[in-house]
Amino acid sequence: MSGDVDALLDALERIDERLHDEQEYLTELDSRVGDADHGNNLARGISAVTEKRDDLAEMSIDEAVKTVGTTLVSEVGGAAGPLYGGSVMSASQELEGGLDEETAVAFAQAYLEKLTDRGGARPGDKTMVDAVTPAVHTFTRAVEEDELPPVDALAKAVDAARRGVAYTVPLRASKGRASYLGLRAVGHRDPGATSTLFVLEELLATAEDRLGEATVTDATADDAAVHDGEGD
Ligand code: ADP
Ligand code: MG
Repeated sequence: MSGDVDALLDALERIDERLHDEQEYLTELDSRVGDADHGNNLARGISAVTEKRDDLAEMSIDEAVKTVGTTLVSEVGGAAGPLYGGSVMSASQELEGGLDEETAVAFAQAYLEKLTDRGGARPGDKTMVDAVTPAVHTFTRAVEEDELPPVDALAKAVDAARRGVAYTVPLRASKGRASYLGLRAVGHRDPGATSTLFVLEELLATAEDRLGEATVTDATADDAAVHDGEGD
């Protein structure tokens, strides 16, 4: 097994644990602005992914990531499955040459592009795009312009996503089920943006485990910021 796939399996294990830990919380958020299934959808999807662990271990990194995406598309219902899964599937092509800073940026950009193409949401529509957009832009800038080490760049991206989640609280929704609620969606954080933040936090934790702690930001600040913040 390549080191890249080994890192992926570590990350998936963490994400699996986190999404199960947060399953009720995410479903509770979705009960305020949607149909109370987001946590359950993602928990089912990530379980199906981690069941394929042995198969993934035999694949190249791009094939393994693509399989994560196809599994999410087929196992996660609702809007989030095709959005998360389809974007991962499509972006996996960028990892054909292996995982490094450059291909990670290409992956992140392709993920955002596919997500917005498929779902048609823009920043400010109160969706996962509000977490993904600042995270991807911040990560790209940190790697390409500031030339930060990957862990530090990822830590900055996580901070940006956390601010993106907070930004969804006062918004009305223009996409997804929450858009049917009009003003009643105001005051609640978006479930998909929140789950995106959790996934990114676990990617960061995996990178810190393997490459050393981030030094540039407060990304290790406790998650209470999300759980106790305005709009919960
Ligand atoms: P469903 O809304 O079908 O029940 P989920 O509850 O699993 O699906 O996921 C809801 C999340 O999906 C929302 O919180 C939002 O972040 C995201 N979402 C919904 N529609 C879109 C869209 N068009 N573009 C981007 N994200 C979207
Ligand atoms: Mg839902």
